[in-house]
Amino acid sequence: MADVIQLLPDSLANQIAAGEVVQRPASVVKELLENAIDAQSGEITLIVKDAGKTLIQIIDDGAGMTETDARMCFERHATSKIRKTEDLFSIKTMGFRGEALASIAAVAQVELKTRKEDSPLGTHIVIEGSKFKSQEDVAIARGTNILVKNLFYNVPARRNFLKSNPVELRHLMDEFHRIALANPDILFSFFQNDLEVYHLKPGKLSHRIIHLFGKSYQQQLVPCQEEIEGVKITGYIGKPENAKKNRGEQFFFVNNRFIKSSYLNHAVVNAYRGLIPENSFPFFVLFIELDPKHIDINVHPTKTEVKFDDEKTIYSIVKSTVTKSLGTFNLTPSMDYSIDTNFIQSFHKDEKAFRNPDTSFPKKELSERDKENLKNWEDLYIGAFESERFEELAKSDFEGKSSEFTIESDANKFIDSETENVKTGTTVLQIHLSYIVTSVKSGLMIVDQQHAHERILFEKFTRNLEQNKGHVQQFLFPETVELNHADFILLKDLELEIKSLGFAFEEFGKNTIALNGVPSISIQKSGKDLLLEVLNDFKRNHSEYSYDKKENIARAMAKNAAIKRGGTLNKEEMISLIDQLFGCSNPNYTPDGEKTYCILDVKNIEKMFN
Ligand code: ADP
Ligand code: MG
Repeated sequence: MADVIQLLPDSLANQIAAGEVVQRPASVVKELLENAIDAQSGEITLIVKDAGKTLIQIIDDGAGMTETDARMCFERHATSKIRKTEDLFSIKTMGFRGEALASIAAVAQVELKTRKEDSPLGTHIVIEGSKFKSQEDVAIARGTNILVKNLFYNVPARRNFLKSNPVELRHLMDEFHRIALANPDILFSFFQNDLEVYHLKPGKLSHRIIHLFGKSYQQQLVPCQEEIEGVKITGYIGKPENAKKNRGEQFFFVNNRFIKSSYLNHAVVNAYRGLIPENSFPFFVLFIELDPKHIDINVHPTKTEVKFDDEKTIYSIVKSTVTKSLGTFNLTPSMDYSIDTNFIQSFHKDEKAFRNPDTSFPKKELSERDKENLKNWEDLYIGAFESERFEELAKSDFEGKSSEFTIESDANKFIDSETENVKTGTTVLQIHLSYIVTSVKSGLMIVDQQHAHERILFEKFTRNLEQNKGHVQQFLFPETVELNHADFILLKDLELEIKSLGFAFEEFGKNTIALNGVPSISIQKSGKDLLLEVLNDFKRNHSEYSYDKKENIARAMAKNAAIKRGGTLNKEEMISLIDQLFGCSNPNYTPDGEKTYCILDVKNIEKMFN
């Protein structure tokens, strides 16, 4: 009798094994995102088409692979992450089975481009249904760029089994949310059919939650932090009144890996007992950290289950942590979203610091030259103007203190400033609709109206941001402004600051705001244009310079709101402008270091005639 048993060919074995790992596009997204994270990436881009059915592409700036590794990675049980049995008990990476790429390549058309930092060229591999098609050199940026096309193209039964695009997209989003939450320090972009759905800048967990789930979460986050017996718990829970009818937004992470555990869910719900109605579900994002030797994550191939050594202890720690945070929250009804859990300690000591953690807007030190100028310029004026204001000014001490001269901050909307403060006897002249010329003690002073106004506004907005308040000029009718998603997210991120400038707005549907008011300074453009320009400049400054957030906004705003060259000014406006410029703590330059005025010395004027 002939023997009948044969080993399956690799490609078929892989295809069968793939069923375990790759159930739908979302599984591919999860595996590839995890690989990018394991590769220490700082920036990850996810691109999908048709809910991932036709294309899933992931680009990272991580470690990359060598030419040989790039080929190896598609073999089954090929991994760089564990080597021996003991390693299983100290796993720090997301992956470790070495199955994902082999499985994905068995059921899709895959292209991999990857380069390590130290190799001049990268490598480009094409593999379809487990069969290598090609490998060649390619010039690419450091990191890995992997493309998965036509998932299940060779397994029609599987492909037909996929659900509608919205359903598949929801699964995919779920995976993306989990990974984005667990890695707030990584920049994630997510494009679906060429539209950027998310652009998540690296930052605090609280910001990540708000960017993912919406601004309304800002009000409802309660921080949690506890460490008991080597088990550390951090994260946020939702206020009881925000509990939902479905259990959508509940996240547990164990050593940064998303897990599902009805047992631990119960611990949280138990802590909310009596605070929320039956059958409603509180929001939470909780991170549990403990020594990996006390857990076994090897129980399921898709790895969302975990076995703990001592489940009961974890249960009671989770419950007591949540209970404690809910208790704290009762004492502190309103939370500031810019707080992260690591502020909790200081909160107990100093409630004010907790509510307002980043009010420390660094003051620019005046350079020696600036101080010198400040001293000198008072001489400049003596005898030139007779206005009381300037007399006052000449008397006052300008070292580090300009308040006596500064017009009450509101009068900084100089175009509407009350003229009674300005002596009409002064001679000022506007030339080329750009420069203001006036006589000073030593000769002729020429003020660049645009630069001067930029300086004035910069200092004004800096003050507004420090004090968290700005003066709003309310609109009679709100203006709706539609933004692209990235700008919308940015605006939400900067909401507190933008509002401190004097913009009033509220969310008004998807990516849209209703603009209810603008800063009460005279602006020569629409509020919408101004807002968009400020956002644009903010982004540009952000990528080019390392300004802190408030300084960046004050600069962007000053630049865009300042009167431009070419604008007519009447006499009162000109005098007021000069008046305010020399009320600034540093009147000589714009924030960008451009001169605001210059003096033509009498001696030089004399020379011109000899
Ligand atoms: P696992 O992640 O379980 O090790 P995978 O099949 O997902 O298995 O990946 C196999 C190997 O390929 C990984 O161990 C890693 O060395 C390498 N690899 C995969 N993706 C990347 C990536 N984006 N950047 C660098 N190396 C990667
Ligand atoms: Mg992996």
